[in-house]
Amino acid sequence: MSKPEVSIVIPLYNEEDVFTELIERLTKLIDSFHKKIEVILVDDGSTDSTALLIRELALKDERFQSIILSRNFGHQIALSAGLRQISATEAVFIIDADLQDPPELLQQFYKLYEEGYDVVYAIRKNRKEGVLKKLAYATFYRIMDKISFVHIPLDAGDFSLISARMAKLLNEMPEESRYLRGMRSWLGFKQIGVEYDRAKRISGESKYSLKKLLQLAFNGIFNFSEFPIKLITNLGLLTILSSLGYLFYVLAKKLIYGNVPEGFTGLLFVLVLFGGIQMLSLGLIGEYVLRIFFQIKQRPLFVIREKIKNKKVEE
Ligand code: UDP
Ligand code: MG
Repeated sequence: MSKPEVSIVIPLYNEEDVFTELIERLTKLIDSFHKKIEVILVDDGSTDSTALLIRELALKDERFQSIILSRNFGHQIALSAGLRQISATEAVFIIDADLQDPPELLQQFYKLYEEGYDVVYAIRKNRKEGVLKKLAYATFYRIMDKISFVHIPLDAGDFSLISARMAKLLNEMPEESRYLRGMRSWLGFKQIGVEYDRAKRISGESKYSLKKLLQLAFNGIFNFSEFPIKLITNLGLLTILSSLGYLFYVLAKKLIYGNVPEGFTGLLFVLVLFGGIQMLSLGLIGEYVLRIFFQIKQRPLFVIREKIKNKKVEE
């Protein structure tokens, strides 16, 4: 059997509500596309019927592969698990299950791939989310842009078409706390953004809890920036300088006026403030240490419970 030119990788976590429509849209896309496509559906430890649906589909249609993870590992890891399974010779299309990212954009993205781009990423022109969430996202991406080592495009998520060689390189990066959009930027090559309107989720709720979202943001910040540590250093220097300044001020006052009344409240305030700065600093250092700790363990990124390829169950 010939290898597919394009792989589509989709992580799914409790997506039974969107499944039917997703597969319909994908099947239409596969039928109309001029290259051979394989779809890799990764179940990220769903507690609803998603895994069963994926399994059933992969057993009857060889264009779909089923990867069932042993538990919920989170979106970035599920995506990484899918990327490790691809056999595409040309490009890999990464989309969400909830159809917020229209699969039909593959046509347009693929054209750019043919023009020589290794990464075609989607830029969200419009988000159909709450005002607060939108503001939080916008702020995060703008801060990230200011502080990261590499330029990570604004308002671009994981929705993208990447070349097979790019996917291979991503698979060779063993880092444990994964921020794929950052890793993708770090890899370089020719990259281009395409604007699109991000639709609403067709059904169900966001599977990104606030906790997961914060985790993703932290992975972005601590893996792609040394700003927090630099901040501590500068804050420390500033603190020392200002305390020295204060010392000279008090000494001068004493020399000129003789007596200096000492304020107890001022002392307490300074004490608490610096206690806080110290704790914050320790916490920030802890973030990096934590990442070193996880990285040196070299655990596998994920564990697969079952894999179905070409309608056959593999271990
Ligand atoms: N997802 C996943 N594991 C998780 C959370 C989410 O595989 O722990 C999948 C989810 O099924 C969807 C994609 O990641 O296909 C993006 O999640 P979601 O749409 O909930 O995020 P949002 O669009 O709200 O940022
Ligand atoms: Mg979504």
